[in-house]
Amino acid sequence: MKRMNEKGSRGEADKSGFCSPLIVAGPCSAESPEQLLNVAQELKSIGKVCYLRAGVWKPRTSPNSFEGHGIEALKWLKEVKQEVGIPFATEVATEKHVYEALKYGADLLWIGARTVSNPFAVQEIASALRGVQIPVMVKNPLSPDLKLWEGAIKRLQMVGINDIGAIHRGFTTWHSSPFRNSPLWEVGLQLKALNPNIKVISDPSHIGGDWKYVELLSNRAISLGFDGLMVEVHPSPGDALSDANQQLTPAQFRVMLKNLFDPNGFKTDLMLELRTEIDAMDELLVWALSQRMAIASEIARVKVKRGQNIVQPDRWQEVLKRVVGKGSEMGLRSEFLKKLFNSIHRESLQQQEVTIGEKSEMTKFS
Ligand code: PEP
Ligand code: MN
Repeated sequence: MKRMNEKGSRGEADKSGFCSPLIVAGPCSAESPEQLLNVAQELKSIGKVCYLRAGVWKPRTSPNSFEGHGIEALKWLKEVKQEVGIPFATEVATEKHVYEALKYGADLLWIGARTVSNPFAVQEIASALRGVQIPVMVKNPLSPDLKLWEGAIKRLQMVGINDIGAIHRGFTTWHSSPFRNSPLWEVGLQLKALNPNIKVISDPSHIGGDWKYVELLSNRAISLGFDGLMVEVHPSPGDALSDANQQLTPAQFRVMLKNLFDPNGFKTDLMLELRTEIDAMDELLVWALSQRMAIASEIARVKVKRGQNIVQPDRWQEVLKRVVGKGSEMGLRSEFLKKLFNSIHRESLQQQEVTIGEKSEMTKFS
């Protein structure tokens, strides 16, 4: 199996066998021989790209979406690799995918977020890799479960894979957010701290879900100490068969890498990065508040049924004590928490009054 340090035009290899910084780039999906050749030539000429990425089996949310060209696309990747001289990476989710990808000369395999969430699938892949030396990267599972992520990595270590990397691609967001997947940087950094032999890179394309966030998230990842990036790059993003919103053109990607790694490059505004993260947090807070108010209305109905008062001072003192205690452990001032929660409580009582009012209106007319 070719090692990263055999190609001069890419970054320096370190002892893990991965180059540094570890840059993986290419289209979300392999769509045609022309698309792959075009993007591979562009990426090769940029010079910093360690692996061309392209998905050939796509784990799609809806059954009627484009699911990849499979083995046909592996043939294109093999040819492009020979013609351009760039190693390629693809996603595997089953034992069969592993055999096929190896047969067509894949240089790096990655396990996608949905697959990592399923230990049976990860074990199947690991078992198929026993006795093979190929670098493998493991995306984070959909939920921020560090143990599950580490478990997948362990399964690969146990079959003897030496070069293992991890990809922080963000976590499922169930509330509205500017990002497609929430970046929980500390989870990736924790994985790195606990596993110093593992290269941990970030995938700003799947975190952001929008090309306009990719540079900002990349800058953040690199400044936090991530070891590299996996970025989706497509010759014509608007025509992409999957993830059209989040792919960069090769020209945009070239500029982004210069900005990130050239000391004279233009750095994205840290303020803008942080403000986008604050926007995401604010949307989470608003979502949590609306959920809380909805539960309070439910409580009001139960109180009416039981003939209880809306205002229950003892219960409120208990709640306040608990949140102030929890918040102080997390570095929040008690005065601030008291003010905030008293205000939430007032709104909640008002909401409960309205709910009960509505209920008595309903009884009046029924
Ligand atoms: C991908 O890399 O195209 C992909 C499907 O990513 P994820 O597993 O992170 O959703
Ligand atoms: Mn994608």
